Amino acid sequence: MQSRVAIEKQFRLTRMGLFVVWAVLSAIVVAWSVSAAKERALSDVMQRAGETLSVQTEVLTGVLDKYRLLPPLLSRQSSIRALFVRDAEGNAQSLDARRTAEAIGGMSAAMDVAFFFPDGELLASARGSFAVQDEKLPELIDVALQGRLGRAALSSSRGERTYAFSSGVRREGKFVGVVIVYVDFYRVEAAWALSARRIFVTDKTGTVFLANDPNWRLNPISELHQAGRFDRYLINGDYQERLDLVRRLPLLEWDLHVLADPSPVAAARLNAAAIASLAGLLSGVIALVVLRRNESAVIRSRSDRAIALRLERVIRDRTRALSITNQSLSQEVEVRREAEDRLRKTQNELIQTAKLAALGQMSTALSHEYNQPLAAIRSYADNALKFLDRGAISEVSGNLSRINSLVERMAELSKTLLSFSRKPGATIGPVPLGTIVDEALLLARPRARAAGIAAIAVGEGVAGLHVFGGRIRLGQVIVNLVNNAIDALSGQAGAYIEIDARREGERVVVTIMDNGPGIEPEQLPKVFEPFFTTKGVGDGIGIGLSIVDNIIRDFGGTIMAANRAEGGACFTINLRAADPDIPEREPALRSEGAAV
Ligand code: ADP
Repeated sequence: MQSRVAIEKQFRLTRMGLFVVWAVLSAIVVAWSVSAAKERALSDVMQRAGETLSVQTEVLTGVLDKYRLLPPLLSRQSSIRALFVRDAEGNAQSLDARRTAEAIGGMSAAMDVAFFFPDGELLASARGSFAVQDEKLPELIDVALQGRLGRAALSSSRGERTYAFSSGVRREGKFVGVVIVYVDFYRVEAAWALSARRIFVTDKTGTVFLANDPNWRLNPISELHQAGRFDRYLINGDYQERLDLVRRLPLLEWDLHVLADPSPVAAARLNAAAIASLAGLLSGVIALVVLRRNESAVIRSRSDRAIALRLERVIRDRTRALSITNQSLSQEVEVRREAEDRLRKTQNELIQTAKLAALGQMSTALSHEYNQPLAAIRSYADNALKFLDRGAISEVSGNLSRINSLVERMAELSKTLLSFSRKPGATIGPVPLGTIVDEALLLARPRARAAGIAAIAVGEGVAGLHVFGGRIRLGQVIVNLVNNAIDALSGQAGAYIEIDARREGERVVVTIMDNGPGIEPEQLPKVFEPFFTTKGVGDGIGIGLSIVDNIIRDFGGTIMAANRAEGGACFTINLRAADPDIPEREPALRSEGAAV
């Protein structure tokens, strides 16, 4: 995996590369924005200047048209015609003529109105001074006397400028005079003065005739150019004076100029440059921030991955160690299970051995139990034969039924014995306590009788109680305890054994007691230990109580040994109570006769 330093270096290189790309792109965007803004602003400026040019062209032509028509109209008036007469002394009617000129000048707002005789003598004028001095006057009169409309631009040394229209006055087919109207441009220039743009008119000699800037008037345009009066402006890479919009007025051979104001173009360029630069800068900052974030995210994710990998490795190692432990544990479990199996087998064999030992103990008494009825059967049979010879059939029948009942008793004992000696099952279920006690006593009683113990009492509480256990094993427990009691009581006068049971809630408490010598108090904790015995060699091996304890534990119960206050030992078994309706798992002792 890449180290942090390598990642940072890689990002540094990326940043540098991106910076170069960003710088080039920004420069292109700025240049393009500036040029586009310049073009847009320029066309805007030109368009507005063009509009001004059109309007002012209309204004100027309108003014000139108005005055152009005035001299021909006046020359046709009879009242005007009548002014051009001399009296007998050759004097003109100058006063009337002057009044008429003043009246016309006042009404038409012309700069001046003048009447001339064909020879160039002034008859009268409204203002006078301008008309007389001008050098172009003879030409104006000449053209008028040829019947055409005379016209000329005039200027005075005081800077006054006008345009004069002249028309000849005819009387009876002869030219008697000339009417000249001088146009007043004062209002036009005054209107132009309100415009921010420079507006001016050049005549055919290239001299500025009208202008809204007084300093420009009557100056040749070439001089103004030289004096740098024109804004020079960079268009398509060349400095050009293209901001000078020109419209020709053909009638007068004048050019009307409108100079567009270039300042909005410069401002637009500046604005565009500023905005594009800012946008470029902002995009650069954003790109930088995004790159930085990306870088730290990559570094973080790499370090997360490194941690995850480390963790994974640790987990893998641990898992391997755990699975090894697990393997060895399961092997151990297997070994233990085998050992347990072996132990259980050994225990079962031990139980069986103990059981057979108990049977051995009881065998003498049991054989006596068989021999007695056998002897009785023989005697009943012998007697029956004799009764048969005598023909005493009823006695024969009586003997036969006695024989029958004795055989039945023997069969029952034999069945119980066989069942007791067979190997017990491992299952636990509800078993009838009363029946088990009866069967155990059936086997144990003959030995008790042989030992001189007449009474083995069974309490009323025993019958009808059911406990959780195994039938054969519980029978063995009872036989063992009764056999021990018989051993303890042997040869004792008035000896008795008592078995009782009671239900205590969910438990059943079974007591087996005797009135023998009891157990030495210091031996009480040891009696359940294997191979603890107080009996002589050949009488006991000390495994009986240890097996009893194991069996009861298997049933989920407990067994305790104690001495009775009135003398004798008392063994108390505590077992789980069972519902009598539930069928028992192990078959009854007497119902089966399996081999040992
Ligand atoms: P064993 O009968 O072979 O000695 P047990 O485990 O059955 O082995 O009994 C252990 C010992 O407990 C006996 O040797 C005896 O000392 C004592 N014991 C058992 N039951 C009684 C009893 N009812 N009265 C007196 N002592 C008893």
